[in-house]
Amino acid sequence: MEFEAIIGLEIHAELNCETKAFCSCPVAFAKEANSCTCPVCMGMPGALPTLNKKVPEYAVMLGIALNCKIREKSQHARKNYFYPDLPKGYQISQAKLPICYDGCVELDDKKIRINRIHIEEDAGKLIHMDGKTLIDYNRAGVPLVEIVTEPDLRSAKEAKLLLEKIKENLLYLGISECKMQQGNLRCDVNVSVRRKGDTVYNQRCEMKNVNSISAMERCINYEINRQIEIYKQGGSIQRQTRRWIDEKNESVVLREKESIGEYRYFPDPDLPCIEVTEAVLLKIKSAMPELPEIKRSRYLDNYALTKYECEEIMRVKAFTKILDEAVEHKAPAKKAYNYLVSDIARLINEKNITPDEIPFGGKQIAELIAMIEEGKITSTTAKDVIGCMFSENKSPSEIVKENNFTQLEDPKLLKAVVLDVLAENQKSVDDYKKGKKKAMGFIMGECMRKTHNRANASILSLVIREELEK
Ligand SMILES: [Zn+2]
Repeated sequence: MEFEAIIGLEIHAELNCETKAFCSCPVAFAKEANSCTCPVCMGMPGALPTLNKKVPEYAVMLGIALNCKIREKSQHARKNYFYPDLPKGYQISQAKLPICYDGCVELDDKKIRINRIHIEEDAGKLIHMDGKTLIDYNRAGVPLVEIVTEPDLRSAKEAKLLLEKIKENLLYLGISECKMQQGNLRCDVNVSVRRKGDTVYNQRCEMKNVNSISAMERCINYEINRQIEIYKQGGSIQRQTRRWIDEKNESVVLREKESIGEYRYFPDPDLPCIEVTEAVLLKIKSAMPELPEIKRSRYLDNYALTKYECEEIMRVKAFTKILDEAVEHKAPAKKAYNYLVSDIARLINEKNITPDEIPFGGKQIAELIAMIEEGKITSTTAKDVIGCMFSENKSPSEIVKENNFTQLEDPKLLKAVVLDVLAENQKSVDDYKKGKKKAMGFIMGECMRKTHNRANASILSLVIREELEK
């Protein structure tokens, strides 16, 4: 008997706002517990929420990126439930009228429908310690968007591709940090299985606490197998919320799932509708950064990067910014690309900094490449120049000038170096004369070392050959 999996995702992304969704408390990670709170986010009687303008703006940007319809008048709703991390006793969310709806994301060969994107506030954080539970409300009221897909995914791999795609959009739009480990991108996964060919959906289970993309893949595969086993043994699936425990590679029952009715959603009387007029929509659209899909095709078509190279560089948003700047300053795209993914990537690692902390831009890379192409420096020296660009706040030409990095092309000057090296390495000279042509490579290396790699390689090898043949 063959089974197929039906998978839907609910993705929560914390928005990159400076203040919370409905009050002016700062959004901060790892601050002293309960230091970022006020009467509004603590749900004190009489305290009234005011919507942070950035929140609908960011939600609309994401809606546009994920091909959603944008609702002209959407509504806040209260989702009522009692839990200690929720000081008001309800969460401000959206129910019947979410801000974005009916979108879709294209994976390689299929479309995944997006049911909705809605705005909501985060809850506080419970910290379990020594048999006690502590509560930190710094996160209560932090703005989120929730992206809900239709159950169109059929495998863990498709779910992974979709989550990566949505994450990429959030990052390139600059509206979320997407750090899954810190919990600002979280994913709940709904999984059910059915016999292949069936058209009805069976009972599903929801998995919470999935905090990395690879954990999500493991979690989905685990759940698919668990449900198939139950069906094979003639059992049935109970609707449950389960918690994924990555260390044990298994999930456990968290609770029997509440139905929507139990949340008693109703429009929030303290907040007006969110209005997105045609004019507002146009303004948001025109200010939006380039979408990753468009950037990708631009790189393939205009920069002539391969598909592989494209994926390599797209993985690091800061690199794409430098690449675009370099090309703007007339650098050949492929050369700039090569410096970014090799030397610059290596130095970032060695210096233990993030790509966002690279202290120079594409203009400097363009200048460096121009100096190589004009023969002012060798490509080996260029590597040293890049090293200096990380530690000194100077342009490549200043670095070359100050460090005497210019390429040595004067045959007379090179001849002096060659004669020195030959005198110091009589054995290699004899070897060469006996027909061991390999000795040439050694002599070349010694001359390069003496000139700190500044010698023009082709002129140098001519000079060496001339001297050896004498
Ligand atoms: Zn507050």
